[in-house]
Amino acid sequence: MDKYFVIGHPVKHSLSPEIHKMFAAQFDIEMSYETRDFEPGGFIEGMAVLRREDSPKGANVTHPFKMDAYQYCDEVTPRARKCEAVNTLIFDGNRVLGDTTDGKGFVNDVTQRCGASLTGARVLILGAGGAGRGLAAALQEEGCARIYIANRTPERAHSAGAALGCASGSFVDLISEKFDIIVNATSAAFSGAAPAVPNCVFSECSLAVDLTYAALPTPFMQLAKESGAVRVEDGLGMLVAQAAESFALWTGRMPDTKPVYEKLRAAFDASVAL
Ligand code: NAP
Repeated sequence: MDKYFVIGHPVKHSLSPEIHKMFAAQFDIEMSYETRDFEPGGFIEGMAVLRREDSPKGANVTHPFKMDAYQYCDEVTPRARKCEAVNTLIFDGNRVLGDTTDGKGFVNDVTQRCGASLTGARVLILGAGGAGRGLAAALQEEGCARIYIANRTPERAHSAGAALGCASGSFVDLISEKFDIIVNATSAAFSGAAPAVPNCVFSECSLAVDLTYAALPTPFMQLAKESGAVRVEDGLGMLVAQAAESFALWTGRMPDTKPVYEKLRAAFDASVAL
């Protein structure tokens, strides 16, 4: 049986094993998919053990190892090179190929599940880490009117903006800016907060998406709603959509994301009702 993994730290609460199990069931594919927690700073050692003991066919890589995975690969796709992050590993004999499906997953979720049009849209990405850069790279192929990367540390926004050909700035610079779609690609939710952006930035926002997901609205979703965003979403849809892209890279089959998303969302809703 082919073995797949999701590598991160911490990773034991990852939904990826459940998602890939549901994808595999759609095609009657027999595969195992497990979590692997690597010590921070221990990506290379962890990979050596994993490859020696488990001979994986593929793996997902999540926080905080996406950059380590990018550096580890023998070959990466152009889109992974653009954002210097890898979330999908494909093991081909002794070679390791790396790709990133985060951006494509976001685009698919927003256009297909949410029904939003990216063509001509003014899009603000908050955060210049692996996820923010991945989104910017994918959005560049969608005909957006404007893509702006804003980050808590402005130098990082400027360096991502220069590398990807997007506008960039600090959160304070957003005071006179308006956007149709606003995405929170920061990890501010880990500290229980929304990124410190001015409320007025949401005044013409039709869709605000937090890449973080939870059973209850996140601080960013609350801020966006209170500040005038018409629709707010969390990152569960993107999680399922980026997983589907990884699954397709490994198996050549594109799963149906809708029933998987609906099942996970129902489980979240049920946990709130308890
Ligand atoms: P990362 O590379 O570590 O980058 C973190 C980003 O968050 C940086 O831009 C950082 O800004 C910013 N940040 C951290 N704390 C902040 C705060 N208190 N206020 C404002 N900005 C803050 O992480 P990543 O891989 O890009 O992931 C970012 C988020 O997206 C995470 O929450 C992750 O779980 C989520 N994500 C979700 C999916 C999904 O499928 N739904 C996929 C990928 C990522 P500085 O540069 O100033 O430090």
